[in-house]
Amino acid sequence: MSSNLPEGDAPLYKMWVNGLEVVAQDDTTIDVLNPAFQTTIAKVPHASTADVGKAVDAAAKAFRGWRHWPAKERAEAMLKIADCIEAEAEALATLLATETGNALRTAARPEAAGAVGIFRYYAGVASEAKGETVPLSAGKLSYTVREPLGVVAAIIPWNSPVAAAAVKIASAIAVGNTIVVKAAEDAPLSALKLSAICNRFLPPGVVNCITGYGKETGAHLTAHPEVRKISFTGSTETGKAIMRAAAEKIIPVSLELGGKSPSIVFPSADSDWAVDGVMAAMRFTRQSQSCTAGSRLFVHREIYDAFLDKLATRLNRLVVGDPLEESTDMGALINDRQYTKVNDYVRCGLAEPSARLLSGGESPRQGNLSEGYFALPTLISGVHNSWRVAREEIFGPVLVAIPWSDESEVLEMANDTHYGLAAYIWTTQLGEAMRCSSAIDAGWIQVNSGTAPGAGISFGGMKESGFGREFSLEGMLESFTQRKSITLDFSNT
Ligand code: ADP
Repeated sequence: MSSNLPEGDAPLYKMWVNGLEVVAQDDTTIDVLNPAFQTTIAKVPHASTADVGKAVDAAAKAFRGWRHWPAKERAEAMLKIADCIEAEAEALATLLATETGNALRTAARPEAAGAVGIFRYYAGVASEAKGETVPLSAGKLSYTVREPLGVVAAIIPWNSPVAAAAVKIASAIAVGNTIVVKAAEDAPLSALKLSAICNRFLPPGVVNCITGYGKETGAHLTAHPEVRKISFTGSTETGKAIMRAAAEKIIPVSLELGGKSPSIVFPSADSDWAVDGVMAAMRFTRQSQSCTAGSRLFVHREIYDAFLDKLATRLNRLVVGDPLEESTDMGALINDRQYTKVNDYVRCGLAEPSARLLSGGESPRQGNLSEGYFALPTLISGVHNSWRVAREEIFGPVLVAIPWSDESEVLEMANDTHYGLAAYIWTTQLGEAMRCSSAIDAGWIQVNSGTAPGAGISFGGMKESGFGREFSLEGMLESFTQRKSITLDFSNT
């Protein structure tokens, strides 16, 4: 809710614009909730068009100097940022867990640690923005240089705000761009803290971070004439709006959108390691609020019952509760909208006559867990690939299991989706692994591995999961530089 300052006891976290902490010009704010307890924990500014303008102006001004910094010096500043994130990782992780509901031990700490690695990685490759030389004749050559794009608008989601902000900031500034991050309204605090750390080591205006709602602040930012690139992570629906905004100005955009990724289990993988892998791929410990969640589980009929039994036993053991407790495996969903949506999908799936609930189910209506937006790790068996729970992105811990008998049949089902972000294959047979990896239309295929995106591996989607790659050297070059060819005839000079 927007309100006028001052109000209540919740602390006000300020935005970062031009190296300074600022409030909104009209002093309006947005409440930030702790989803595990449904309490207001902070307020952040509700940035207006004028505030967006100031942030973009600061970034545009800073670009004039930052683009000419030697890559080595940019890298040195980024390494200092990494060291500082590392020193403050526990505070960052606690803030992240408190605002997102993600469990500290299983999700928030690894995410904060990941941000350290991301800054170190991009510092290491900052000097790699190299071009090519074409020798045309004795006195003539053509060469290319990679130049930064200018002011980057980064629109980030609430599910992994530190990782998303870190990747976009580090890969954009490493090659000389400046950036305005629009933090997600549901989880802006850790992105603001990350920006505070960046601003300790960077010239004013290189990293700016503003807060506000997507359709207002976010839309003002993407429409701003000085923004030369939009890097967006979020829903497919919002991705379409972002692409329209980019089309108005003919600027490049990278879109990392939704998914409904298949996780395919072959008979040779009827083992505990594959059960662990399927759980990791489904990102249960982040309440499956992940675009790469392996949320359609295709299990071969030969091992279907045995595998699902093992999986259900493991899911029933997951501890759901207070994100800050060390014993907690799974925290809370982000907000009331997600909570209602996830429970609606559970009901919708179980309404089908052949559906069987093997673990979890609807959220508890009584006890401690009813005080926050908690959902249970849910496994529904006997699902058909055409059902809504198998086609739509739930963004919650609802895994649907679909039996299969024939490899070509399962590959057809795996590809029968408008998404194409990730896929997981569980088998000890090389041929099965290689055939599936080649046949599935997804940006990232993992065989016997269910890890989250990490620095160095190009990450991005196919189909309606988006386009453009980030997270890697190649992603940085593709998404945050532009090439200029210079043809030089020195034969008469
Ligand atoms: P969700 O609905 O779960 O918040 P979104 O994809 O809509 O997922 O949000 C991801 C990010 O995009 C958030 O920071 C949000 O504020 C922002 N956003 C939403 N709509 C727009 C828009 N029209 N223009 C720019 N940013 C937007």
